[in-house]
Amino acid sequence: MDIKTAQQQVLDRLITPALAQLPPQYRHTLIHIRTLIERCPRVGDLCRYLEQLSDRQGEPDGLSEALSAHKLPTLAALSAALNEAAGSARDERSTVRQLVVGQHYSAYVLAIIAGTYNIQPGIHLVKSGQTIEAILLKATLTDGKYANQWLVPGETLKYYFYGPDGVYSRDHAFNRAIIESGTRPILVFIKHAANDYELIGRFRYESDHEDPDGARWSTLTRLPFASGADPAGAVVTEELLEAELQQKLARSRITAPDQRAARLAIASPTPDRVVVQGIRYVRNADVISAVLERAAGHCERCHHPAPFRRPDGSPYLEVHHKIRLADNGPDTVANALALCPNCHRELHYGLAPATGA
Ligand SMILES: [Zn+2]
Repeated sequence: MDIKTAQQQVLDRLITPALAQLPPQYRHTLIHIRTLIERCPRVGDLCRYLEQLSDRQGEPDGLSEALSAHKLPTLAALSAALNEAAGSARDERSTVRQLVVGQHYSAYVLAIIAGTYNIQPGIHLVKSGQTIEAILLKATLTDGKYANQWLVPGETLKYYFYGPDGVYSRDHAFNRAIIESGTRPILVFIKHAANDYELIGRFRYESDHEDPDGARWSTLTRLPFASGADPAGAVVTEELLEAELQQKLARSRITAPDQRAARLAIASPTPDRVVVQGIRYVRNADVISAVLERAAGHCERCHHPAPFRRPDGSPYLEVHHKIRLADNGPDTVANALALCPNCHRELHYGLAPATGA
């Protein structure tokens, strides 16, 4: 069963008849439920939501009774039916591991990942059983009195604790989870607009502080993207991973040689691994072969013969797009050049203009 089918089934059996038949006081609740149903990315997310709605704690006041009174299926019956129909798809849930640094998420998706289906809190504790697996933290950067702000842009965040009614207790579950997070990742999402949160990265709690009026805040510092063995680590984009390497490289190059040598002496020879998400373009093989034919074994920039031959005897040249596909350049013979590897690298990394034949 796919998610569209599952959503339609629940909408048809629950929301549509209930909106038509139940008294108007249920309208707001039903529309809220419909929004969450429509936002569930995976079948398992929807199954879990219905389970929660149908247990007595999660159920909106009197909704089950109202459904029964109108001879509509109860939430519990719907939940059971969906679980049955979903089969193995009921195990497909949205998880922290699917989050990608640099991408934007709605408050709904974060609440669904957390399994709370409640978009209000600024902090979500993602639990596996009773254990907190990860903390999702939605930070709004504003100019207010208690303004979260970057102490070092993108790296160190000043983050105000949860402080209902001005009481910033270290014992509140949200605040304690941050303070005691240890090696558990705190995923920081910066709010850009209503319902638009960008995942900045994984952070570590450093310290907490108190303002003179009793407001409390913590400093959180960003962990490197490739910090290995963390099972709840988020996926990163290739661009961010590369940007981080360039940043570290710039720092390494101005490090005194003896300091660098000391770091190298204790460095792990085994590189960390990280799951990377990126976009690849499906290129037209006919464009590549037509351009190679046109070049006839010579670089179309420096006009030297290809530097070596492939195992099949053909001259080695690389087909380059004058306007990059990533910049919406067309994948056409006219937009492509066959280049020797030196010219190709120079166009991408050298001082020469990025385009031109
Ligand atoms: Zn060349």
